[in-house]
Amino acid sequence: MNAPQAFEIKEDIGHFVGGKILQPGTGRFADVYNPATGAIARRVALANRAEVDAAVELAQAAFPAWSDTSPLRRARILFKYLELLNRHSDELAAIITAEHGKVFTDAQGEVTRGIEIVEFATGIPELLKGDYTEQVSTGIDNWVMRQPLGVVAGITPFNFPVMVPMWMFPMAIACGNTFILKPSPTDPSASLFMARLLKEAGLPDGVFNVVQGDKEAVDALLENPHVKALSFVGSTPIANYIYERGAHFGKRVQALGGAKNHMVIMPDADIDKAVDALVGAAYGSAGERCMAISVAVLVGDAADKVMPKLIERTRSLKIKNGMELDAEMGPIVSRAALERITGYIESGVASGATLLVDGRPFKSPQFAQGFWIGGTLFDNVTPEMKIYREEIFGPVLSCVRVANFADALNLVNAHEFGNGVACFTSDGNIAREFARRVQVGMVGINVPIPVPMAWHGFGGWKRSIFGDTHAYGKESVRFYTKQKSVMQRWPESISKGAEFVMPTSK
Ligand code: NAD
Repeated sequence: MNAPQAFEIKEDIGHFVGGKILQPGTGRFADVYNPATGAIARRVALANRAEVDAAVELAQAAFPAWSDTSPLRRARILFKYLELLNRHSDELAAIITAEHGKVFTDAQGEVTRGIEIVEFATGIPELLKGDYTEQVSTGIDNWVMRQPLGVVAGITPFNFPVMVPMWMFPMAIACGNTFILKPSPTDPSASLFMARLLKEAGLPDGVFNVVQGDKEAVDALLENPHVKALSFVGSTPIANYIYERGAHFGKRVQALGGAKNHMVIMPDADIDKAVDALVGAAYGSAGERCMAISVAVLVGDAADKVMPKLIERTRSLKIKNGMELDAEMGPIVSRAALERITGYIESGVASGATLLVDGRPFKSPQFAQGFWIGGTLFDNVTPEMKIYREEIFGPVLSCVRVANFADALNLVNAHEFGNGVACFTSDGNIAREFARRVQVGMVGINVPIPVPMAWHGFGGWKRSIFGDTHAYGKESVRFYTKQKSVMQRWPESISKGAEFVMPTSK
């Protein structure tokens, strides 16, 4: 692969409303950093309530025509969007690396996983097909169809600035809704790039809008009566808040929260493959993935086999600027996140866990001011420790030793989070029992990060989700539409006369 082009635009980032980029006004701004260098790269506008309400009004105005557009025509626009995304995917990946810090090759993977949702959304004519029963009573037929809700909004986290919005808006607009995206102010540039491509694909103005902002913008969306549904992805406290406030204002809400994902390694597992999987899942994207493995549960004598290899692999991680193609791990997203992570490492040491690899002394040879830390590895972590209970969201792996499979399963099931989990074993019955009994929404058997494909849907259990439906997949058709049942009786049929032209979608 050729060296990718870095993203270096300096202008302030505004909103995208009614098909136009709105130049930022004189209101509030937040700084956007390049995490590798630690320098301020640009600023992002933070919308106030009036700006959010104006965007909702335009989205509301665009709804009648868009919801009346046939699903096939909506799908054709998404096909064009798909083409454009494929053409510009490396530019999008470079934007992600510039503002998030994750390595470029990982950012490419993120863009691909987002594109897959658009591919799924192009099947919307099939997905929106309703149910029909002829002759529910004499001369009466009954059918059920699904109709869009109106204006729906998505509030997204910093860690997947392309993929997570794409968990939401392709399906929302394919279903006939209009959409307001409120991205994370930490890495907002990708949202405008995606908006421009949608416009180029022929999406009518007002169907997809972006308001940049923080709590003020989120509260305005929560309280605006024209916003009918909210999709949220972020930390558990905010997910909980969005769910409760959204319900208070009568909205449909799906709110995906934080995680503490375990990987159980049985003594019979292929240890080399398990260690490979563990290192990638714990330190990839600097551990800033909601599906990152942050706890390794080492069963029986698996620990003796895993630990020497794990120490060696953690020490030799290639930690570099994400635009270097051999980088395995980039910087942390922000100084605040770096301080939070080092605080957790201090807490782990203070609570008696064994610190085998300490990432704190790591320094980037190129960038003294960037937000850098090395991979960190703890052994002998126990369930009452803060580093075990709480989400660290950084490159810190905690190893817990347990005696047997039952103890491993009980440990995972007792945790308050239930997003993802993995079990590495060569025993089919253990694998089957694990998948059946584990209280977690997404399960990997010899797969470390089991993110479901576009047509299956994504979501955890317990305090990793608030609401009934998972993101994307067929569940998102249910979330972004409401059911209408029609019962019809006609005393006699009405003839339209002969038609000689091949009927087409109108
Ligand atoms: P965050 O909760 O801080 O922010 C998420 C969104 O909420 C952002 O758009 C932010 O601007 C907004 N927000 C922040 N504080 C708010 C407040 N007080 N009131 C209203 N809105 C507010 O999350 P983050 O740090 O951007 O992302 C990391 C978190 O997201 C981690 O906890 C991670 O596990 C989680 N996450 C979960 C999933 C999942 O699918 N379950 C996926 C990705 C990330």
